[in-house]
Amino acid sequence: MPADLLSQALQFVKGVGPRRAADLHRAGLLTVEDLLLRFPLRYEDRARLTPVAGLRPGMTATVVGEVLSSGIRPTRRPGFRLFEVAVRDASGAVRAVFPNQSFLKDVFHPQQQVVLFGPLDYRGSGLQFTNPEYEIVRGDADDPDDGHVHTGRIVPIYEKVGSMTPRMQRSLMHQLMALLPEDLADPVPSSVRQALALPTRRDAILHTHFPDMGVSVEALNAFRTEAQRRLIFEEFFLFQAGMVLRKRQQAQYLKARPVVVDDRIRAAARTVLPFKLTDGQKVALREIVTDMQRAAPMHRLLQGDVGAGKTIVALLAALVAMENGFQVAFMAPTEILADQHYMTIRRLLEPSRFRVASLTGSLTAAKKRATLAEIASGTTHMVVGTHALVEGAVAFRDLGLVVIDEQHRFGVVQRATLRGKGLHPDVLVMTATPIPRTLALTAFGDLDSSVIRELPPGRQPIRTVAKPDSRRDEIYRLVRAELERGRQAYVIYPLVEESEKVDLRAATEMAQTLQNDVFPEYRVALLHGKMKSDEKDQVMGAFARGDIHVLAATTVVEVGVDVANATIMVVEHAERFGLSQLHQLRGRVGRGAHASTCVLVYQAPLTDQGHARIDALVETSDGFVIAERDLEIRGPGDFFGTRQSGLPTLRVGDLVRDHVLMEEARREAVAWLDGTTEAQPLVDYLSANWAQRFGLVAVG
Ligand code: ADP
Ligand code: MG
Repeated sequence: MPADLLSQALQFVKGVGPRRAADLHRAGLLTVEDLLLRFPLRYEDRARLTPVAGLRPGMTATVVGEVLSSGIRPTRRPGFRLFEVAVRDASGAVRAVFPNQSFLKDVFHPQQQVVLFGPLDYRGSGLQFTNPEYEIVRGDADDPDDGHVHTGRIVPIYEKVGSMTPRMQRSLMHQLMALLPEDLADPVPSSVRQALALPTRRDAILHTHFPDMGVSVEALNAFRTEAQRRLIFEEFFLFQAGMVLRKRQQAQYLKARPVVVDDRIRAAARTVLPFKLTDGQKVALREIVTDMQRAAPMHRLLQGDVGAGKTIVALLAALVAMENGFQVAFMAPTEILADQHYMTIRRLLEPSRFRVASLTGSLTAAKKRATLAEIASGTTHMVVGTHALVEGAVAFRDLGLVVIDEQHRFGVVQRATLRGKGLHPDVLVMTATPIPRTLALTAFGDLDSSVIRELPPGRQPIRTVAKPDSRRDEIYRLVRAELERGRQAYVIYPLVEESEKVDLRAATEMAQTLQNDVFPEYRVALLHGKMKSDEKDQVMGAFARGDIHVLAATTVVEVGVDVANATIMVVEHAERFGLSQLHQLRGRVGRGAHASTCVLVYQAPLTDQGHARIDALVETSDGFVIAERDLEIRGPGDFFGTRQSGLPTLRVGDLVRDHVLMEEARREAVAWLDGTTEAQPLVDYLSANWAQRFGLVAVG
């Protein structure tokens, strides 16, 4: 073994070889360190011994004894052979059978001392173990494990990897434990380790894989032992240190010039403001503008519940930038949303001298050329569009602020692109829905964050009801009642990617049924993502004007759409949507002065998860509460849906289970980096290991 055991490629480890190494490789395990930093799936207590006389059917037990006899027993089924061992202790004898494992005839021999572990059952002739875990404790010079690796202790159970059985992995791990150097390097700084009374890395690895007797198996299986927590902390600490370092590195860039804010600018902002800001909006705006006045570019996340009023905050920030002679790019994830923003913004900016343009795919080539020229010359001050805005060849004269709306992880790529172009504007990322704190700390660990907690005053609460599909008449009565009051309705139909075609047909048919059979005296229209953008615009425009009464739509209305007169939303197949998505959808109603209703229509029977989601929505309309629930129900991987999430690949930590540790790791990383002059070794470790440990290559 070379000096650096941990970075050694697994194929060169004794007993691994090319084939197993390839299997491990496929599971993302390349080096010894990768194996050491991988938790067992679970642990089993095989330490408590039961005398043979005390064995009962149904029990899972460990016995130690001497091999009386062993051999292959033919069976009546052709080609099927049983290997059988009889083991005796002072109280009696028991049999163990191993179907089709003739090779064991070279493993077991009479007089060996062996341990068996497994469930017992009763077969005609007596009690037996079937396929137990076994171990030759003494008397087998060829077994390198030398006893008490697989039995007679608390044993780790690893997930099978290709041809590597849990048992093989256990043997391998045991062999690696013996090779761990006494002075194993530790990436967690010793001062941090001491302050938190964490075990050394070496001890933590040893005790995670081969726990001492007496450690609670429950604690092990909950991944709550000191050793396990130390390894989880390490993972989180390194990740957070990386985030903080990245953030500090970004702070070294200089933007073109900081903005200044004076009374003239404040007055200008007031002229476009259509209402009083809520306290939360004021605080967020102050935080944003403070960043903008700094020499380093802003990288801020603005979180707020659906309808919290993030747009106006961003627009006021944009106004400050424009008053300072900067251009602003305002980006939305979809064209519908971009158009909607464009409309709102143009209206709000009317009293100002600033010119805003829209740049979306639906422009004619000539119009697009003209718009691009105006952006390049600076006669257009603000441009609204999709992400193509900064990704494409759009040249700005003096880009000062980029606002990225309604997208969780959108910002990362765009920030990188901008930097690639040598631009360091202020960047404000706005999320579509609240994100649980731990996830925000992880996916956006390199951003500063502002949160708007409250909704603007006068909002009517949204009544949410869940109804099975079978009560359709009742559902339509609710819709009709709103239409009769002059209100409008959304009927949302899910599109599941895998069955998009079928679903789209279903949505189309539903729109027809609604028009022809259910609401013949009202106007119903269909909106879906496969429509051309000018068609979409037309439909959305007509709905916004009130010319369409019922908008049957796939989830394209999910984000941002704002029609205050729409007061009822029916969500078909609510069981198919994620919790955050449903919350987001529901936020399309309750936008005006009228009381609103959201009807979640589900197909019975519901799964437990489906139940949990629908219950959560009926119970609360607080997006922050819903986000936490969603994370619990779905887990972090799914929280962000299919979009690039920006979440690191974690090996031992779990963002739900270990969220407290993540916050602790963040605090410690910030404090340590603030106080130390010796960050270099950690920086070096992170640069060398970042991609392999966290799977995110230099994003943001
Ligand atoms: P979101 O945070 O979901 O993007 P929006 O910015 O679209 O929310 O705002 C939702 C609605 O609330 C808009 O119609 C907006 O004009 C309105 N609004 C925002 N802030 C206030 C406020 N302080 N007072 C009254 N209405 C507001
Ligand atoms: Mg919005």
